[in-house]
Amino acid sequence: MIDFHTHAPAWNDAGWLGGARFGAEEFIAFMDSTGIEQALVLSHDGLFNATPKANDDLAAFVAHHPDRLAGFGTVHPRDAGAAAEVDRMLGTLKLRGLKLHPWLQGFSMHERALDPVCDVLAQRGGILLSHDGTPPYSTAGQIAALARRHPSLPVVLGHGGLHDTWRESLALTVETPNLYLCICGTPPYAAREILAKAPSHKVLFGTDAGLSDRTSQDYAVARVAEIDGWGITDRQRQAMLVDNPRALLGAAR
Ligand SMILES: [Zn+2]
Repeated sequence: MIDFHTHAPAWNDAGWLGGARFGAEEFIAFMDSTGIEQALVLSHDGLFNATPKANDDLAAFVAHHPDRLAGFGTVHPRDAGAAAEVDRMLGTLKLRGLKLHPWLQGFSMHERALDPVCDVLAQRGGILLSHDGTPPYSTAGQIAALARRHPSLPVVLGHGGLHDTWRESLALTVETPNLYLCICGTPPYAAREILAKAPSHKVLFGTDAGLSDRTSQDYAVARVAEIDGWGITDRQRQAMLVDNPRALLGAAR
């Protein structure tokens, strides 16, 4: 199983978004106990304070197990050096993509400052994963509009619309060729509908592990256990947990 939505440890007590100070070995132990072979690790501290250091810390964390962990750093798109930092993230730091959290970071996906950032990301073969599901910022419509301006960039809705906008996230995933959807924190009734209606090659799964203050990441384990109740077929399971994330990460080189 490939977990497409986990978070790096909170090294700086950066905010209220949970987080814990666990080491890479502890995280690997959690993954082993839960049947997760590979995890996509998103920035945590950088979402509160998008500094190059936050990306350096994330890169050092995933570098402990490059075969098991792939990192997505972050920038604030209005920072003058944002595009250059994305270039450094994917080049020097060997990160695989960019995580954005428009609501937490306080910008709109319609801002033109995002275009040079996405241009560099697409040129580098990276992936954009955005938080979604919390209006007014971070709706699927806003994220899909950005995806349409950058058709060669794979864009992932990080939460499948959560409780409030999952219908919109599903509809836009169906109609936007380069938009993908990660079921992560999406309620079970919505996950069932998404699996029934979304193209099976566009659905991913994530636990949000790393936000729990327990090394065991209990709620992430519970989210994995939940999958069985979604009416998922063997083919959909193979696509969501293995083939789709592998294809996206394989393309992001
Ligand atoms: Zn998350």
